Formats: sequence, C-alpha cells, structure tokens
Amino acid sequence: MIKILEDREKRYEETLKLISLDLGTVLCAKINYPGNDKNTEYAKKAFSMLKKAIYKEFKGLIKLEKNLSGYDGDSMLLIIGLSDTEVKKRSIKIETEHPLGRIFDVDIYNKDGVPLSRGEFNIKERKCIVCGNSARECIVKKRHSLKEVLTKVNNMIKEYGDSYDK
Ligand SMILES: [Zn+2]
Repeated sequence: MIKILEDREKRYEETLKLISLDLGTVLCAKINYPGNDKNTEYAKKAFSMLKKAIYKEFKGLIKLEKNLSGYDGDSMLLIIGLSDTEVKKRSIKIETEHPLGRIFDVDIYNKDGVPLSRGEFNIKERKCIVCGNSARECIVKKRHSLKEVLTKVNNMIKEYGDSYDK
C-alpha cells in the first residue's frame, strides 16, 4: 500500500514537471482499479483500451506523452494542445460514453497543478459500480467487499474485451 502511494506521489511530481514546460494542458490517465494489485491481466487490458480511446479523442493534439508503470498500475501523462476546460470536457465524454468509462480515471490539471473537478462541469457524481448509488457513499460506508467490486470490474473488462476483440 505504501508503495502504491509512493508511485502516486512520483506521478504527481512528473505531472508538475510537465505543467512547468508550459506546452499545453496536462492530462493523466489511468485505470480506477480496486485492490492492491493494480497490475492484473484485466487492469492491463482496460488500460490499453483507455489509451486507444484517448488517442482517438486527442488525435493530432498530443504534444508529449509519458508512460509510467509500477505498483499503482499503468498510467500515461500527456500534454495536449487545447485549453484545460476543453480537455476536461472531452475526457468527461470518454468517462461517460465509453463502455469501460466507469473505471477510467482521467485527470486534467490547471497551471497550478490542481485537478479540475467534475462539479465545475455540471457532471453528476459518479455512481457505484456495483449498486448504482453514490460511489462516494458506498466507499465511506464500506458497502461492498473488495472481492465483490473486483469481480464486477473484471467481468466488465472481460465482457467489453471479448466484444471488442471480435
Ligand atoms: Zn454501491
């Protein structure tokens, strides 16, 4: 667990470095994968689909790409030649419209290194992947076991992956 947090810190340091280059808006994409093992076959598969969706959405606009991996799983940092609000709007679109969008985690940072929140864009809070209630509430109240969430997430990836490969 400490190693996951350390990786997150390292990623944020990289994020700040990219922001300081002042080449465009910095985006960080990763999989919101439950549990301490962020490098399962399913997590990897989901990440490759997230990458495809990002490349498609920001085609021709990516100025710099940095891929990271480690205890917190795979992630990518990008500098995109669009305003932060435009990048945020497009990434919200991916998160809401892609079949696996619910487990995609795409953060957009402003020039001060602060992530733009969904609330500013009139987007409803994310729903719990298992029961459909407020995700935040289910986390706080520990409504679901890790095993339950993991099974749900892996099944989603498997289902979408299977239909995708055809
Ligand atoms: Zn729930």
